[in-house]
Amino acid sequence: MDKEVLEILNKHQLKKTSPRLSVLSILRSRETAISQPELETILGKDVDRVTLYRTLSTFEGKGIIHKVLDMHGTANYALCDASCTEHKHNDEHVHFNCTSCLNVYCLEALQIPHLVMPPDFIPHTINFIVYGICEKCTKKAAEEHQKLH
Ligand SMILES: [Zn+2]
Ligand SMILES: [Zn+2]
Ligand SMILES: [Zn+2]
Repeated sequence: MDKEVLEILNKHQLKKTSPRLSVLSILRSRETAISQPELETILGKDVDRVTLYRTLSTFEGKGIIHKVLDMHGTANYALCDASCTEHKHNDEHVHFNCTSCLNVYCLEALQIPHLVMPPDFIPHTINFIVYGICEKCTKKAAEEHQKLH
């Protein structure tokens, strides 16, 4: 068992149920965010759809994961920074949605620039998403290009 997964549940005072442990392990094993349908495929019959939905919404509410909508409007989930809590998410980093492999990346090193709102516009949530070709797809394209020459 992944010790960090247990620590995350302890920190947020959540019971260690098997769906929670499975979902967190999957999220931790990935470099990119994951959608609910992809999670369903990986989990198979172990976790039913309603339980998965509740698990994701509990995690989001507790500040364990954050949601990113991709270009098709599908929610993708990624692990939060340790500073996120049930009161406030601090995931104000840039997200990157690859138009080739469709993966959503958290670019944690890139903070969303501070935006000065017009008077009386009060922001609650800021999404900053960049669409383009990710590192993996760029490298793959370069390799295929070399093979042809
Ligand atoms: Zn967060
Ligand atoms: Zn890609
Ligand atoms: Zn993120």
